Amino acid sequence: MLGAIVEHRLPPGTKLGEEKLAKVFGVSRTQIRQVIERLSHDRIVTVVPNRGAFVSSPTVEEARQVFAARRVIEPELIRQALRAATKDDIRRLRTHVAKESAARTANDKRAIVRLSGEFHQLIAGIAGNRYLAKTLRDLETLTCLVIILYDAPNMPACPYHEHSDLVDAIEARDEKRAAEHMVLHLRHVEASLNFERAHDGELDFEAVFTT
Ligand SMILES: [Zn+2]
Repeated sequence: MLGAIVEHRLPPGTKLGEEKLAKVFGVSRTQIRQVIERLSHDRIVTVVPNRGAFVSSPTVEEARQVFAARRVIEPELIRQALRAATKDDIRRLRTHVAKESAARTANDKRAIVRLSGEFHQLIAGIAGNRYLAKTLRDLETLTCLVIILYDAPNMPACPYHEHSDLVDAIEARDEKRAAEHMVLHLRHVEASLNFERAHDGELDFEAVFTT
C-alpha cells in the first residue's frame, strides 16, 4: 500500500476503505487496519474520527516544513555517506542514476518519482544511521504526496543531472561540495512545485490496483 501511495496510484485525499482494500489485496481487514495504523503513525495516512482513514494531504505550510526538515538532515547524511562509501556503493549509486535516466527516457512518471526517492534513501543507507534513515524515509513519502499535490507540469521529482553531480561529489570525497549540492538540489525540487495548485482526491479505487 505504501508503494501505491509513493507511486501516486493512491493520491492524497483518497479514502482508504478497509473492506475494499482487504478485498483488493486479498488479506484480512485486521491486517489492513494494522497497515493503516502504522502509516498513520508515520503521518502518511490521516485518520478522521467517524469518517475513516485517508491518504494525507499535506498543506502548503506542511510541504514547506518537509523540505526544511530534509535540508537539515540530508547534508549530514551525504557527509556520512561520503565517508563510509565503498567502491561498490558508488557503483550502486551510478547504476541507480542510470535507472532513473532510463525511466526518464521511457517517460515513466511513476518510476521516475519512485526512483528519485530511492536515490536519497540509498545515500541514507550508505550513511548507516538507521534513525536518520527512518526519518528520511517518512519525509520522502511525504515528499511524494507533496509532489503529486503541487507538481508543476514537466518537472517530475528530482532533476536527473543533479543526482549524478551528487554521486560525483561523493566519489571525489568532497564533503563541502556534496553538502552544498544537496541543499541546492532540495531547493530546486521545492522551487519546482506549484503551491497555487491543488488536486482533489477523486479516483477509481479498483483501477488503482488492477492497472
Ligand atoms: Zn533528488
